Amino acid sequence: MPLVPMRVLLDHAAENDYGLAAFNVNNMEQIQAILAAAEETDSPVIIQASRGARSYTNDAYLRHLMLAAAELHPSTPIAMHQDHGNSPETCLSAIEQGFTSVMMDGSLKADGKTPADFEYNADVTRKVVDAAHAQGVTVEGELGCLGGVEDGHGAGLSAEEAMQHLTDPDQAEEFVALTGVDALAVAIGTSHGAYKFTEKPTGDVLVMSVIEEIHRRLPNTHLVMHGSSSVPQELLEIIRQYGGEMKQTYGVPVEEIRRGIKNGVRKINVDTDNRLAITGAIRKVFATNKGEFDPRKYLGVSREAMKQVCVDRMVAFGQAGNASKIKPVTCKEMVCFYQRAGCGARDHALVG
Ligand SMILES: [Zn+2]
Repeated sequence: MPLVPMRVLLDHAAENDYGLAAFNVNNMEQIQAILAAAEETDSPVIIQASRGARSYTNDAYLRHLMLAAAELHPSTPIAMHQDHGNSPETCLSAIEQGFTSVMMDGSLKADGKTPADFEYNADVTRKVVDAAHAQGVTVEGELGCLGGVEDGHGAGLSAEEAMQHLTDPDQAEEFVALTGVDALAVAIGTSHGAYKFTEKPTGDVLVMSVIEEIHRRLPNTHLVMHGSSSVPQELLEIIRQYGGEMKQTYGVPVEEIRRGIKNGVRKINVDTDNRLAITGAIRKVFATNKGEFDPRKYLGVSREAMKQVCVDRMVAFGQAGNASKIKPVTCKEMVCFYQRAGCGARDHALVG
């Protein structure tokens, strides 16, 4: 089937109380790993590319790889999402490339580093919503700032500073009313990258009360958790065992994410865990077979290692078993949906 708008997947997840992992990709093996995991678990799929991924693949390679994924997996609904669009121009160019969903991250200015004010954020996000919905493309916005930096994007806040930039529920309500976004990324104390928490998290890792309050006020807006890799200690251990140097770090426990899913979180961004799995698998081949020089021998096992992480998340978040239940909808059909719903699109469920 053609790539589907992300909104279709988020609506199905909301109606059936599950969450969807959104995995970042940069190359063929990562896309294959996600699709193999999706086939095995009957999962709908969100694949996302950062600006860095788009320049690494030169857009055209990525576009054709995604078309190949759709061709080879006709029964898997796949949404293609721009992660952290820094400006309306980035989002519009993604739509031109065939992305079915875009994130306009106006929480930061176009440099991707400087925290922006509410008015700027609402203004650029509204612009993207107008252009994207006219083509049936889904839009994710962001309010509040996360810690860390991902692919050069982020304010670089420490975990403590990030706690000062949590999403304000009052502002969230106003932001959604002003912009009409389909999904909203919220800051609840998570950080991008591998180094999230230096101590093993105990008790309340995230400010779950913020999610609960936003979900209570905006029951029809799909919430998104960024920086939500779990950083499994066994993956760090494999890297260290075969010569890598990883400082001690902890991620967001899967249990915390499941609490979020109970409170309206429908999209969970996962990148670091896959990077760790890939790196560990490649290091192991290099360390145990020093004469190996066939790229398929190390890229193949890295693909398998990433697939396992994807399977684990798909099962944990509840998206497994749902691909075959989703009625595919095209971007063209979504145009009518948004026109019918006017700017109150978020208040109407699409399916069911
Ligand atoms: Zn992010």
